[in-house]
Amino acid sequence: MAEIRLRNVNKRFGGVQVINDVSLDIADGEFCVFVGPSGCGKSTLLRMVAGLEEITTGELDIGGKRVTRLPPSARGVAMVFQSYALYPHMTVYDNMAFGLQLARTGKPDIDARVRRAADILALGPLLQRLPKELSGGQRQRVAIGRAIVRSPGVFLFDEPLSNLDAALRVQTRIEIAKLHASLRASMIYVTHDQVEAMTLADRIVLLNAGEAMRRDGSIAQVGRPLDLYHRPANLFVAGFIGSPG
Ligand code: ADP
Ligand code: MG
Repeated sequence: MAEIRLRNVNKRFGGVQVINDVSLDIADGEFCVFVGPSGCGKSTLLRMVAGLEEITTGELDIGGKRVTRLPPSARGVAMVFQSYALYPHMTVYDNMAFGLQLARTGKPDIDARVRRAADILALGPLLQRLPKELSGGQRQRVAIGRAIVRSPGVFLFDEPLSNLDAALRVQTRIEIAKLHASLRASMIYVTHDQVEAMTLADRIVLLNAGEAMRRDGSIAQVGRPLDLYHRPANLFVAGFIGSPG
């Protein structure tokens, strides 16, 4: 069970409200994409789910458990950071094993988990390499591998493709879709790219920003990609998604 429930979640930095009364239910196994213009609060909302940013007011439940005030390690989530977050002096194997070693997982279990993740991501031949000996796409797969070995109920991605060139972006996007199909874990994926959102999402959450009549960091519309495309709630949604007419 790893459904995610946000109830009237708000975030203020100093006097500035950047997330505005967000209520949202994400189903177990759903691929949910947070999308919207730069600065609308996507990363902040994701980081609050991860426990990396305090929730100012509101509640968060993951897998039926109230986690609003719990630390990241107690939430059953794994965040995929961009590829530069690998430890440069550690091999691919050790980069994936490190978090498990900290958690005092037994060696045979660590080995089995790392090899399974390496299989899923086609990293088997690269396990003894250092990050500097990998391409950008391979590094990003290692970053995803570090999340997989923990068998989380929830994967959190913050613009994981933004450091990759165009061809690799498409390829990695397809790999992430396959990963979701094989693991059936809940995923929240942040992007400012509507094409990524349309192709990956079971449901899209579009956040408001820069609209005179709307509150920044509030939900503009939630729905399946084609619902937003064919039935945008307003001109902001239509403009962002690129709906006809
Ligand atoms: P996005 O990821 O959609 O581009 P962010 O969540 O990073 O947006 O930021 C949302 C708003 O919150 C922005 O106006 C940003 O400047 C502000 N913000 C983000 N982090 C902080 C912080 N640590 N302190 C103050 N303001 C912040
Ligand atoms: Mg961001």
